[in-house]
This record gives sequence, C-alpha cells and structure tokens, in this order.
Amino acid sequence: MLSIREAGAGVADWRRRPGRNRVTCKMGSNEESTPREELAALTAQARRDLARIAHPAMPWLEPRLGPHGKPAFDVLILGAGQSGLGIVFALQRAQVKNVLAIDKAPYGREGPWSSYARMRTLRSPKDYTGPDLDVPSLTYQAWHEARFGLESWTALQSIPTPLWASYLLWVRETTAVPVRNGCEALDIAPAVDDLIAVTVRNDDGSRETLHARKLVLATGQEGMGRWWMPEFVASLPNRCRAHAADAIDFDALAGKVVAVLGAGASALDNAAVALEHGAAEVHAFCRRPVPQLVQPYRWLTFAGFLRHLSDLDDAWRWRFMRTIMGLREGFPQETWDRCACHGNFHLHTGAPWLSARTLGERVEVETPQGPFVADFLICGTGVDIDFAHRPELRGFAANIATWADRYTPAPDLRDDRLARFPYLGRDFELLEKVPGTTPWIGNIHVFAIASTMSFGPSGSSINAMTTAVRKLVDGLTRGLFKGDLERHWRSLLAYDVPQAVLRAPSRTVGEFPSAGK
Ligand SMILES: Cc1cc2nc3c(=O)[nH]c(=O)nc-3n(C[C@H](O)[C@H](O)[C@H](O)COP(=O)(O)OP(=O)(O)OC[C@H]3O[C@@H](n4cnc5c(N)ncnc54)[C@H](O)[C@@H]3O)c2cc1C
Repeated sequence: MLSIREAGAGVADWRRRPGRNRVTCKMGSNEESTPREELAALTAQARRDLARIAHPAMPWLEPRLGPHGKPAFDVLILGAGQSGLGIVFALQRAQVKNVLAIDKAPYGREGPWSSYARMRTLRSPKDYTGPDLDVPSLTYQAWHEARFGLESWTALQSIPTPLWASYLLWVRETTAVPVRNGCEALDIAPAVDDLIAVTVRNDDGSRETLHARKLVLATGQEGMGRWWMPEFVASLPNRCRAHAADAIDFDALAGKVVAVLGAGASALDNAAVALEHGAAEVHAFCRRPVPQLVQPYRWLTFAGFLRHLSDLDDAWRWRFMRTIMGLREGFPQETWDRCACHGNFHLHTGAPWLSARTLGERVEVETPQGPFVADFLICGTGVDIDFAHRPELRGFAANIATWADRYTPAPDLRDDRLARFPYLGRDFELLEKVPGTTPWIGNIHVFAIASTMSFGPSGSSINAMTTAVRKLVDGLTRGLFKGDLERHWRSLLAYDVPQAVLRAPSRTVGEFPSAGK
C-alpha cells in the first residue's frame, strides 16, 4: 500500500525533491496508523450500509440466452474506469446484477490515474463525491480517514492522484463490481432477439463474442474518437513528438529543449514532468493572449445545472456547452507553481503553432512570433470526436446522429468541433442519423466526454457522477423494464402469493358476530 508520502500528497507543506515527481509533507499523522483494521472496519460498515438501503431488493429480470444457448448479459459496460464502476454499482442497487464491465487495461491500470494523469493531485476539490453514489461510508473522505486519520484529511488540500486510483479499487472491491480486465472490445454488431454482440479479445489473446441486451460505452475521454494533435505534428516521426496522453520517456528528455502545445492543465502537467526530469528548457505555447485561468467546470458544479441541463432545448444546451467547452480546461494553481518554480520554464502567449518540420534530429515549429527549434514536441491538445477512428464503432459510425445532424446554431455560435459530438437521446442512447438503418444502436448508451454536449458534465467528470450515473441507470432500467412489459403483465396476472394465511380462528371463518349481539 502507498503511504500518503509516497503518493505525493498536495498537502499543507510540500516541497519538491530535485528531479523527482515527489513531495514530502508535514501534516501530523500522514502515514497509515492502523490501516488494515480501520479499512476493514470501513469496508464492513459500507457493506452494512448497502444492505440497509437495498430496498427494493426483489430481483426483476430474467436471464436471456444468446446464440448457442450462451447466457446474455442484461448490461455490458465497456470500460471499468470510475464511470464503469459507478454504473455497475448503481445497476446492482437497482437489482440489475447480470452485468459485467470489461476493460482492456490490466487490474489497477484503468483510466488515466496511474499512467498519463501526470498531476500530483486531482484538479477537482477534495470534497467532490462521485463513485460513492451518495453512500457516506463509500466516499473518498471516509476511505482517507480510515487510512490516514481525520487530521490528515483536514490538512489535505487536494487528493493525491495515486490515492484516488487506490480508492477506486477499494470501491470496486467493496461493492463487488464484476470486472474482466485485459479484455478489449473490438467490434459491436446486432445479434438475434434484439441482443448486441460484442467481439472481445481476452488477455490470453483468445477472441470471444459476448451478448448483452444493453451496452454502455464508458470508454473514457477518447472513447468516441481520439487524442488529437495538429496533422502537421502527427505526421512528424514518433521520436520527436507525442500527445500528452501518450506514454512518454521523460528520462530521455533530460538536457533537451521541449516545446509543449497548449496551456491547459494536461499540457502544463507534462511540462512540469519534463522539467523535473531535467529538461534543459521547456516552452509552453498558448494560442490565446492570456492562458485560460477560469475553470468553467467550477462554475457549473451546482445541482440545478448538473441535473437539468439535459432538460433544456437544443438552443440552450448548445449555448451553455459551447461557451463552457470553448473555454477549455484551466489549470489549478499547483500546476502553474510546479512549472513556474523552474527558471527554465517559459510560457509563450498568442503563439499557436502554424506548421512544423524536422531539422535533422530536431524539429522546428512556426509561430506568429517566428520559428522555434526544439528536440521534442508534446501536444496537450485534448480529444476530437471521430467515431470511425474507433474499431468497435466502425460498423455503424456513419449512422450515429451528431449535433450537426440535429441542430443548426446561429452563424456566430457555430463550432465544427462540437458539432461532431453525438446527439444522444433521453437515456444517453445513440440515435440514428438515418432512422431505420441501424435501429439496434438505440441500445448503446454513451457515458463519456462525448455525452457532454447532450447532458453537460456526465461521463469523464467526478463532479457529475452522483447525478449523471443515476440518470443513465434510470435510462437503462427504463429500457429493460419496457422491453419486458409483456412478461411483467403476465407475471402480475399470474401472481398468486398470499400475503396472509387464514389460520383457524377460535370461531369458524365466515361467522362474524352480528351487530345486534
Ligand atoms: C489527465 C487527466 C486528468 C484528470 N483529472 C481530473 C480531476 O482531477 N478531476 C476530475 O473531476 N476529473 C478529472 N479528469 C476527467 C475524468 O475524471 C477522467 O477522465 C476519468 O478518468 C473519467 O473516468 P471514465 O471512467 O469515464 O474514463 P476512464 O477513467 O478513462 O476509463 C475508461 C476505461 O475504458 C477502457 N477502454 C477504452 N476502450 C476500451 C475498449 N475498446 N475495450 C475495453 N476497455 C476499453 C480504458 O482502458 C479505461 O480504463 C481528468 C482526465 C484526464 C485525462
């Protein structure tokens, strides 16, 4: 287990160790004191709490069979990051238990937390709840206090990223979420009886087809597209460029000049790690005259917006989300400080990259302020929606309705990037571009950043989990219930379970004392 010190906590008093992405902290009780006992007690408490709120606990689904008599899942979730876990947990609480989450990553490597999330601490405030789905004993705070004590929680400024990853694994274990790791979805297609067939590759290389009534894509930020960088950078050799979400050999950047495109949180995290690995110079290039300092995701974190943005008409949803997504994601103070404490860090504003070319082993980017020569380029440029780029979506990518298909904003509100987002139905389901061509995609639900234009923050955001997961799961259970209406009706008519037994009374049944007696 990691101690909070090893995790690199963003706590009251931290100092960088030269050349290392590590901090030390002074905050009283920052090591686990009696972690195993405390954590075991919390786990037991959480399970007791869940048992107490299990109502309505009656099973209500009957297993379906796929081809060759193989059982089909009621819901199959692609992705076992925090969203996938939260969705399965919520489904289980709705007594939808014939479910599975699959993840191509090995156990403990799901999501960005132990790979390309290069910040020391989460960017969101420590008190945002999420995967707990409002069960107090499942919150990060409860877990942190059990492991490190109340004093540690009180002193903590932000949640150390590795601890968030450990916490997610604890939630998964405590709530008994079934996950198959090392299992990648390769293809999605329609199957018999309104089922969906998902071809997967298991970690032993074997291929298999899983069937499900409903599918959820909880495949992360790039789940309906790809990490994006300008084409003129993408076409450079791999040795001189990377995306911020790539695995990067930072040790190899020691003594090198690194140019980072973007000045958002991930761009600056990568700049900081390069600096800490001894890069000679790191230059971040921001196209705006002033970097994005306001974090719109803070503004929108109130119940009204999180719950009801999706109730608004297209014009309002577009207006809000275009403004928010247009601002992009600002960086927190710690991220800036982590870069700015290095004298060899430079921020260039009003400096988009216009083109790039190799110069021997080096690379030259063109900016409005003139050319700049670097040894390595890192693009902190986010994602682009591109259904056809994802192998599992390719078979029906052309018929997924987008915002461009359904809504035309006024010319001054146009945004081609956002117009590529899927236009989702009420239950986060895919809609068809041409109705009737692939009607089965209505059983595919999207819970990722791609859901954002339709629902506001939902997938890919901790702040929205407690509201959005519930909304999605309501949609899933709605579909499962409606899909079984005939069976439920027959079941009601056949229902003959007596609630009481007429035991032999002291007087004969049917003989009541008359009123006059
Ligand atoms: C660098 C970074 C930092 C962030 N920091 C914060 C933060 O501090 N606070 C905050 O609120 N939000 C943050 N976010 C946003 C959001 O919380 C994260 O993106 C979070 O990981 C979203 O969870 P998720 O489960 O939706 O997706 P992910 O955690 O990305 O999980 C998706 C999973 O799907 C799996 N997968 C993908 N394709 C397939 C396939 N075909 N078959 C099987 N499995 C597949 C992946 O392996 C992955 O494990 C951050 C995002 C990034 C990228």
